[in-house]
Amino acid sequence: MLFLLFKHCGEAMGRRQTMMEKYKIQMKAYRKKRMKSDSTPYLPLEGIVYVIDSLDPGKKIPAQVVKTRVKSQRTVIESLACPECKNEMLWDDNWEAFICTKHGKKAIFELVV
Ligand SMILES: [Zn+2]
Repeated sequence: MLFLLFKHCGEAMGRRQTMMEKYKIQMKAYRKKRMKSDSTPYLPLEGIVYVIDSLDPGKKIPAQVVKTRVKSQRTVIESLACPECKNEMLWDDNWEAFICTKHGKKAIFELVV
């Protein structure tokens, strides 16, 4: 019964929304989503970093932090040593992962958080 009441109210409110209101709500949701999907690779407080190989997920591999920088009072990992060949891997925003290109095929290492 309560559910039906809620449903009814929701529908009534929906009908009263103008296009502008709908747009504003959508923009707000979009911005919230963008904030949430901040993929910045922050360094965990313990300083221990694990990655998983995107092509072979399942096992957590410890990775050595090479370079960090501070962004709004938090430490961000700039580069990690590749667990396979120790090459310095940089963060790739598009992949949202660290990429190593030094050994055969491209390796994509996602940060485990
Ligand atoms: Zn490598």
